[in-house]
Amino acid sequence: MDYNKLANLLFPDVTETVEDLEKKFPKRELPEGANITRIGPSPTGFVHLGNLYNAIIGERLAHQSNGTFYLRIEDTDNKREVEGAVNTIITSMDYFGIHFDEGATADGDNGAYGPYRQRQRKDIYHVVAKKLVEMGFAYPCFCSEDELNTMREKQIADKVDYGYYGEWAKCRNLDFETVKSRIEAGEPYVLRFRSQGDSKNYINVFDGIRGDLRVQENYQDFVLLKSDGIPTYHFAHAVDDHLMQTTHVVRGEEWLATLPIHAQLFDTLGFKRPVYCHTATLMKMDGESKRKLSKRHDPELALAYYREEGYIPKAVWEYLLTVLNSNFEEWRIANPDAPISEFQFTLKKMSSSGALFDLAKFNDISKDVLSKLPADEIYEGLTEWAKEYDEEFYNLLTKDKEYTLKALSVGRGIPKPRKDLVSFKQAKDFLSFYYNETFKVEDEYPERVDAETRKILIEKYVETLDFNDDQETWFGKMRDIGESLGYAGKPKDFKKNPEAYKGSIVDISGVLRVAITGRQNAPDLWEVSQILGKETVLNRLNNMK
Ligand code: GLU
Repeated sequence: MDYNKLANLLFPDVTETVEDLEKKFPKRELPEGANITRIGPSPTGFVHLGNLYNAIIGERLAHQSNGTFYLRIEDTDNKREVEGAVNTIITSMDYFGIHFDEGATADGDNGAYGPYRQRQRKDIYHVVAKKLVEMGFAYPCFCSEDELNTMREKQIADKVDYGYYGEWAKCRNLDFETVKSRIEAGEPYVLRFRSQGDSKNYINVFDGIRGDLRVQENYQDFVLLKSDGIPTYHFAHAVDDHLMQTTHVVRGEEWLATLPIHAQLFDTLGFKRPVYCHTATLMKMDGESKRKLSKRHDPELALAYYREEGYIPKAVWEYLLTVLNSNFEEWRIANPDAPISEFQFTLKKMSSSGALFDLAKFNDISKDVLSKLPADEIYEGLTEWAKEYDEEFYNLLTKDKEYTLKALSVGRGIPKPRKDLVSFKQAKDFLSFYYNETFKVEDEYPERVDAETRKILIEKYVETLDFNDDQETWFGKMRDIGESLGYAGKPKDFKKNPEAYKGSIVDISGVLRVAITGRQNAPDLWEVSQILGKETVLNRLNNMK
């Protein structure tokens, strides 16, 4: 068979060569050792945590080495495409501080290696496809869906490997005249790779996370171009990552199964293979066992969830880095206030087994991150979030900015700050007692104070309450009232001698705390009272008697 003749029959309009393409996308001028990475999301409209997880790796690898990080839209499967999806990807990544040096933009492209949407690169793929045909490594296949299904049934019955290979590959050796007449008759066809691989052979592929892998050589004649001339992921990825000069392909482990195909394509075309980095799938504990995070059952899989719940990007980064790099937590303890960008991310510290996503741990990290922010930064973030997601809350927060700032300052800016806030959404519940509009008594009064005593306690407290007192004087008065009612002034006295008292100061302050804040567990009562102001405190106490 004259492969050049076949190539011209299949691609009569392609005049460029792969070398021409390579000249169009010349070597990037980057410092020695710079990495070039990308994310290649499909525009499905759903951006998931895994996208961010992989993006953080790519972004760190590129930007830590003064390299380039770009966005390529993998839209070869147009059935999955949703309008506005590219914009959704860009804005969600941007929200999380992931910025691209080049790539697709909402309505176009930015960079010299585009187009950055695969469907717009059809001509480029055809140039490379033509070369493969010329080399004898690609051929048209006219098998219909039905024929392929029949073949598969037969393979099942014969108990042999599925797929298009060896003697099963019916179109592999069609002669030129047959191909020509079938094309002229308008029969649809796909372009397949003619594999020289053998199922008994194994090849080595280096993985940046998993190390040296030994995988079975590909022996299947997989599809390069679909019948509409659009490439499969396999082919598009090889062409794009070669021309765009990606050094590290960071992608999910679901691609490990087809890695032999990708290695074979790079090798056949004489392209230098990138360093593949297959990341572990995000898992969660479900009872005793681990399972994959699912779109249907786990809202936390959607990246939008974190924004809607009002988690700040920094908390998400902190958490994902603890999952990504085993030494991050240690580094964080040694460098509590250092910006994340100072952490040296490395592929070597990544685990290749299932990455466990633990919402409870994430919440702890989020609390920690929020507790370290100054009140005005919390105010900014909180009001911005509320403006978008909760107008009522926004109005409360901004009604008296100084007041809200004071409330947010309680237990903040000290060596061991309080960790009351988990997210901005939860902040609404937490802060509710600061506003009369949302205040309600949520907790029970301490059991050791009966209704009668409670009444006397509150009466006496109101009588002696003086907002000009300092904290010590205030506390002394409260303790005296408690003692006069039979409650130990020191919790340990009560513990030592429980028969001698009705309870302790803890029960006394507990009653007042529930009356004033609605909760047993609230920040320092005197500090809170000062913020609420005399009128509110007295009102709440009088209502509680
Ligand atoms: N489009 C592929 C996906 O969404 C990207 C894989 C890759 O980054 O190469 O899984």
